[in-house]
Amino acid sequence: MSEPVIRRPLRCIQCGYDLEGLSARGACPECGRDIVASLASNLDLTATDRAPAPDARRVAWALFLATAGALAGSARLPEFAASAAAAELAATAARGLPLLLDKTAAVLHIVGLAGAATGLIALTFVLPRRDERRVLRIRVLGCVGFALWLALSVATPNAIGLTATALPAGMVLLALSPLLRELGPRSRVYRDRETAKQRVDELLLALGIAGVASACAEFAAQDSSNETTVALLRLVAAASAALVLIGLGYLATNAYWILRSVLNPEPTLSEVLGTSDSGSNHSA
Ligand SMILES: [Zn+2]
Repeated sequence: MSEPVIRRPLRCIQCGYDLEGLSARGACPECGRDIVASLASNLDLTATDRAPAPDARRVAWALFLATAGALAGSARLPEFAASAAAAELAATAARGLPLLLDKTAAVLHIVGLAGAATGLIALTFVLPRRDERRVLRIRVLGCVGFALWLALSVATPNAIGLTATALPAGMVLLALSPLLRELGPRSRVYRDRETAKQRVDELLLALGIAGVASACAEFAAQDSSNETTVALLRLVAAASAALVLIGLGYLATNAYWILRSVLNPEPTLSEVLGTSDSGSNHSA
């Protein structure tokens, strides 16, 4: 009778002992824990058939670099806050703090520019060239989005410039969404961690609220009697922008998980289990 045998290095989940060569029905010789428990914990049991997409690595790299670029590109938000705080404090406080804030803003400016440029490079050169309309749409939408983003990032951010950036950011998110859908199922962490999975539609909604609230605030600010309304709208815009920033952080983390699992896929059950008559010689 053939017995399933562990054919690859597999760590015991309790003590870390290497279970390679042992029967899958047995227990860890070190700690006695069922080997099945270690299998369930280490393997990607629910993985769908991993059809070998030859360019999946490049797609995963493009997705990761583009989401990281979008996150870094959003450094314009804290840059705006830092330079506004520096200007506010310059009149009152001692010199030290405004100077520090100005320097922080200068660093964030470079981070923002580098982020938008990284995204543009990722979708122009790293994303593989496939003859599919879908990929073409991703490339056009994403590249135009990042190019606009980059152009808007050159100037020191002001309220109107930041509001305008919501548009290219939305284009980039729409472009990246199908890549997440395509590669997401390859990562067990991405599939399982519902709470840490950033949904693109929610991110777009927060971005839309931030953009519209900020645009309305600028419009209302033309009349000085609207002071309270303007303050409230700016508060809504700032809160939504902060949500977008956090969401982009999650999105970049998700893309990192996906990249990791594409570069180094977890073995499937059939890869780890063999039978004792297929070569591995196990004796109890
Ligand atoms: Zn053990």
